[in-house]
Amino acid sequence: MPLIKVKCQACGIDDELKNNIELDKEADFFMCPSHTDYTGAEVHALFCFSCGSINAAALDSDENLRYILTYKLDETDLEKWCVEKKVPSIAIEKLKNYNYLK
Ligand SMILES: [Zn+2]
Repeated sequence: MPLIKVKCQACGIDDELKNNIELDKEADFFMCPSHTDYTGAEVHALFCFSCGSINAAALDSDENLRYILTYKLDETDLEKWCVEKKVPSIAIEKLKNYNYLK
């Protein structure tokens, strides 16, 4: 499985992901499916642990990311977002360790 090159559009930090939360434990990002956009593209959310931004990006069949928007959520909204996106507990733990969640 090819590595996915990721770059935070807010702070510029980059990394390579395997798109597997277990294998990406040490990465600066976690990636989770977000939604399907109007073109039918799978949009993923990439949370940047460096600055706390969420990068929404569509992943094409060649594992290239097309960035759509970047935003930040406050703690209350981030908590809701994690529930809504069914963020795995391993990522939630990491968010807590980085003090993005209590
Ligand atoms: Zn960042």
